[in-house]
Amino acid sequence: MGNLFGKVVKGKKDLFMSMQTEFLIWDEQATDQLSKYIRSGEVVAFPTETVYGLGADATNPEAVKKIFLAKGRPSDNPLIVHVSSIEQIESYVTEISPAARRLIQAFMPGPLTVVLPSNGKISDQVTAGLDTVGVRIPDHPAAQELIQKANVPIAAPSANLSGKPSPTSAIHVFQDLNGKIKAILDGGTTGVGLESTVVDCTGEKPEIIRPGGVTQMEIEEVLGYPIELATEDVSEVQPKSPGMKYTHYQPDVPLILIDGDQAFFQAQIDEYRSNGEKVGVLASEELATILNADLIHICGTVENLSTVAGQLYQSLRVFKKTEVDIILAEVFPTEGIGQAIMNRLNKAANQIIKQEK
Ligand code: AMP
Ligand code: MG
Repeated sequence: MGNLFGKVVKGKKDLFMSMQTEFLIWDEQATDQLSKYIRSGEVVAFPTETVYGLGADATNPEAVKKIFLAKGRPSDNPLIVHVSSIEQIESYVTEISPAARRLIQAFMPGPLTVVLPSNGKISDQVTAGLDTVGVRIPDHPAAQELIQKANVPIAAPSANLSGKPSPTSAIHVFQDLNGKIKAILDGGTTGVGLESTVVDCTGEKPEIIRPGGVTQMEIEEVLGYPIELATEDVSEVQPKSPGMKYTHYQPDVPLILIDGDQAFFQAQIDEYRSNGEKVGVLASEELATILNADLIHICGTVENLSTVAGQLYQSLRVFKKTEVDIILAEVFPTEGIGQAIMNRLNKAANQIIKQEK
């Protein structure tokens, strides 16, 4: 998207916080500047291979508090710590199990987060008071440059307002957080498009607590045995990952998942339209091209689900209240990256309508 806003953009007035958010195009000078901001306790947004992150010095509780404030994130939802080496991971945990080590070696840098027993050096603000810490090594040169130059671990959730779809480009960050954070580093569109896979490695067997960029099958291949996906039952008193109990990825208008064939999907569209509602459709190229609705947005192909992963969040941001009343979205196969796609879509959805078989 280039330098749409010029080098510096004035921050919008906000009831609680207002600052001038700098908009920087990624280059060496920009990461120099951002690393100084991180070291001085400021909060900045930067690209990773998954989504844009909102980072602060993980060893500085006051800096970390600003992340929660800017996003409106509940303080009991822990943050992932971004580092640049395995040695750095070792310095924040009490132990790395053999299974965790295999996963780290196979997938880092990359879209995998491991939850390990914390040795207490990472602030309680980051871990939400848990005795574990989630760490990952991002596979994006801008993120790596920033972590190395800042020379501190960077705590970073996705750089969106809490509850909204995660940002896959700098403009999404700008839309959500302009005036609330020190700077945004524009490194183009992110590659994977969905967050990292979070694997709890503190138990006997690793367990996936959030599906993401690395698939269950890839993890099982490395480990040599099948593993579980933690239950997403939000009624659980103590969810495995606190993030599970919050709303996520909500578009501007209600989203309904349609689980059925093309004729069934079209019948649902027609029914909403007959009630005077403007219907938006979010679907693959294969399905979208044979449907009729008020606004149709194609988000990749079923044939290659990583295209859907890459475009999903951007697609959820396309539909505006002024244009549609409701979004009807396709249900994708849950193989491979499809597991993470459907995890996000199920959370974004208000309802699912199933065709009777
Ligand atoms: P986000 O910051 O939106 O990418 O979300 C990070 C996810 O990782 C959330 O679901 C958190 O609850 C989860 N997470 C981070 N640290 C831990 C931890 N120490 N234990 C369990 N889950 C964690
Ligand atoms: Mg997030």
